[in-house]
Amino acid sequence: MSASQSPAIEAGKVVTLHYTLRDSAGNELDSSGTDEPIQYLHGIGMIVPGLEEGLAGKRQGERAKVVVKPEDGYGERDPRGIQEVSRDTFPPDTALEPGTEFEAEGPDGDPILATVVAVAADKVTIDLNHPLAGLTLYFDVSIKEVRDATAEELAHGHAHGPEGHEHEGHD
Ligand code: ZN
Repeated sequence: MSASQSPAIEAGKVVTLHYTLRDSAGNELDSSGTDEPIQYLHGIGMIVPGLEEGLAGKRQGERAKVVVKPEDGYGERDPRGIQEVSRDTFPPDTALEPGTEFEAEGPDGDPILATVVAVAADKVTIDLNHPLAGLTLYFDVSIKEVRDATAEELAHGHAHGPEGHEHEGHD
């Protein structure tokens, strides 16, 4: 199948891709690795909005470099996200040092990733901002496959793997 005949990425397509994410200095922040590519259902906000927008219209076999500004990525850093909490908030045996990431409860009750900024004798400064907040994100994406989502995938609102319905969480 040539690239021009393969379907373009749009809402309702399942996209399989490899990606590398770097910051503005070129440091690698994340990647899909060398093994299994990732898969997502396009058009429903499963990935950050700027990346979803940047991939629209691309086809199987294409590479895409997508630059995502903070407002289209993980948001700007919110200074109110820096908070001081009592050391007792953490179990006594927890190893705490600057950079330690842990799961905290976000403002809407959902779990969010938080980071330890500083540790004093009885206080711990934490940052509730997403680790990628405030950053311009540089994605390098290699598109492996674009296909129509199945009715089941559309009903569930996510992509299913090659073996069909193999994830947990619902029937
Ligand atoms: Zn499902």
